[in-house]
Amino acid sequence: MSRMKEAETLLKKYYGYRSFKPIQQKAIESVLNGQDTFVVMPTGGGKSLCYQIPALMLEGMTLVVSPLISLMKDQVDQLLRLGISAACMNSMLDEVQYQALRAQVLRGEIKILYVAPERLRSGEFLSVLRKQKISLVAVDEAHCVSQWGHDFRPSYHSISQFIRTLSERPVVAAFTATATTETRADIINRLELIRPNIYRASFNRANLILSVQRDGNRKEALMEFIQNHSQQAGIIYCNTRKEVDKIWDMLRRAGIQAVRYHGGMEDWERNENQDSFLKEKVNLIVATNAFGMGINKPDVRYVVHYNLPKNIESYYQEIGRAGRDGLPSLCVLFFSYSDVHINRYLLEQNSKNEERLAFDLGKLDDMVQYATTGKCLRQHILQYFGETAKDTCNGCSNCCEVSLGKAVMQTIDEGLLNELRTMRLMLAMEEGVPSYRILSDEVLHALAEHQPGSMIALQQIYGLGEEHIRRYGEQIIALITDYQNRGAV
Ligand code: ADP
Ligand code: MG
Repeated sequence: MSRMKEAETLLKKYYGYRSFKPIQQKAIESVLNGQDTFVVMPTGGGKSLCYQIPALMLEGMTLVVSPLISLMKDQVDQLLRLGISAACMNSMLDEVQYQALRAQVLRGEIKILYVAPERLRSGEFLSVLRKQKISLVAVDEAHCVSQWGHDFRPSYHSISQFIRTLSERPVVAAFTATATTETRADIINRLELIRPNIYRASFNRANLILSVQRDGNRKEALMEFIQNHSQQAGIIYCNTRKEVDKIWDMLRRAGIQAVRYHGGMEDWERNENQDSFLKEKVNLIVATNAFGMGINKPDVRYVVHYNLPKNIESYYQEIGRAGRDGLPSLCVLFFSYSDVHINRYLLEQNSKNEERLAFDLGKLDDMVQYATTGKCLRQHILQYFGETAKDTCNGCSNCCEVSLGKAVMQTIDEGLLNELRTMRLMLAMEEGVPSYRILSDEVLHALAEHQPGSMIALQQIYGLGEEHIRRYGEQIIALITDYQNRGAV
């Protein structure tokens, strides 16, 4: 079997997907060929598979460096549920947990090990790692190594040092969603990638429907929008803590359940609110841009910007949190000129020097251009990131009528979909994990649409891997059969 055939077999077996995206295919081939690899792909593009699939095929262990404990935990949890042996090495482990992990690593039982970059600097664990065969080091969120990036982490500098100390140099692969050229060059330098193959995916996210609302009363428009989408998960971004509090209060008084998130709150409250959102105790979160990094929730159906973001980079990153599962999702920007003045004021207050201020004001102007253009919004963003794009897109409020009314699905049996959702929620509560870890929205929709009645039919459902079928297959089929029988009576 050729290696890519083998890779596809693993993709189907573990993840339930039929084919790789073109960039994934190339990146995986490159890593398997033993070459350093650099992948630039937007959020939700599917970077994880580019190192997880090779990890399954290569000898020994793959190390994945990732900046946030919550991100690592989420990924490890997902891998374990898929039946892949993974673990996470970070500062939160107590002595007993550490010793257990250490022993597992020494026995060669861990295929994919997530590590916090600090851990690569010093400590006893390094000598454990040096005893292992490490075939691949994957650096996720690789822009964290660059001071040009928006999220610089000094500890990322330990990565290249660490790699130099290994007796056999592993393949090094870096992944980021950061598009700017300065950052990209810097990443390659600082990670000391050797003649990397570079793959860059388009930043277009066709499932994100872009809308700019310029007229009317935005408070009223927001309320109407939220009421129309109360069944779906969504984020409202505001520019300041005060504004978050105001909107949250307004929603509460209208009887709409929502939580809030900003830097002025106590840690415990912020964490609790984030958790409520991830675990679907509440559908809606009102937040400043402090919220979002490390949120892997795939079924966010809309992102509203109640205020104008400070630049297109931030805006695109924030709306990128919608629709990671590939289903249509709405991104609504409410534009008012009063925000431009407030943003200018905020930049002037916070800028370190004249040069930086001029730079930031220029970026704000670009954002205003986006909010006020009459041309295709998608093309505007893609061109901003240096891509060529068609003049019209059929998915933005300048190219077509974007309905902000009640959302998606005519062909799907809503009754069955609701019952499947309830089953998923029960399972999620039993297992203490977010529902999307049990079954994705995409899978739920496919189940409601195709109504598989047998294990064989289940295997045809896109996004349903073997381990999920083993765990939940019988229950799903029982529910569908029962639903159909009730319908027949
Ligand atoms: P990124 O890290 O680039 O933001 P992820 O690796 O988290 O993206 O993947 C985003 C989503 O896309 C996940 O739900 C993942 O399962 C899905 N996905 C990735 N590759 C494929 C594929 N080849 N076919 C279908 N879905 C995929
Ligand atoms: Mg990722």
